[in-house]
Amino acid sequence: MIELKSPDELRRMQQAGRVVGGLLEHLKSHVAPGVTTKALDTAARTFIEEQGAQPAFLGYRGFPATICVSVNEEVVHGIPGGRRLQPGDLVSMDVGAIVAGWYADAAITLAVGAISATAQALLDTTRRALEAGIAQARLGARISDISHAVQQVAEREGFGVVRDFVGHGIGKALHEDPPVPNFGAPHLGPRLQAGMVLAIEPMITEGSYEVEVLRDGWTAVTKDRKLAAHFEHTVAITARGPQVLTALPQTP
Ligand code: MG
Repeated sequence: MIELKSPDELRRMQQAGRVVGGLLEHLKSHVAPGVTTKALDTAARTFIEEQGAQPAFLGYRGFPATICVSVNEEVVHGIPGGRRLQPGDLVSMDVGAIVAGWYADAAITLAVGAISATAQALLDTTRRALEAGIAQARLGARISDISHAVQQVAEREGFGVVRDFVGHGIGKALHEDPPVPNFGAPHLGPRLQAGMVLAIEPMITEGSYEVEVLRDGWTAVTKDRKLAAHFEHTVAITARGPQVLTALPQTP
């Protein structure tokens, strides 16, 4: 069942969204060659606590860290640890926070130092795929209009669209109905209504879209070990159009 949020509930979700957007902006300044993925996790934990919020992922189904950090062929759900970022890496950070019981969820992929032209194209395309999906998050459209828009942007550039993981509704829980795939024919699925809140999250690959989960039970990698990128925002459907609750703060 899809839970519609009242205007007051959307305001509360926006508070969680501000923490998440601020956290992504904060983490940007920590990404550099030589930094461990664990150091990014620690910075995230400190930031969330300073904001009076709670981490959304820590302990979720046993996940052992505050954020997911996925490098290069890692698609999503990478566990922070001792790995040091290298020049040329693509690093994806997926973060979530809870404020007064309400969740927000977002992800960003960043370049570490100078990256290859292919890596840059993958990063740019994944960001544009998210933007195209968000543009469809409006009254009267259907869920698969978002899916189709994401897929078109990615495949036009010759990249793959991950099937095994999809976006989702979000609110009082991290994962709510409906699922939001990043692929499919348009004009299908539930019609979008005011008060729906969706985590839209394209996971795009350099090669095949097939993924597998490593023995740690979490880290999803591309089967062909080629690069992946991941961008995500928590987006409310409103009469005034899509409202990105996790927008990064505008830097002057
Ligand atoms: Mg998500």
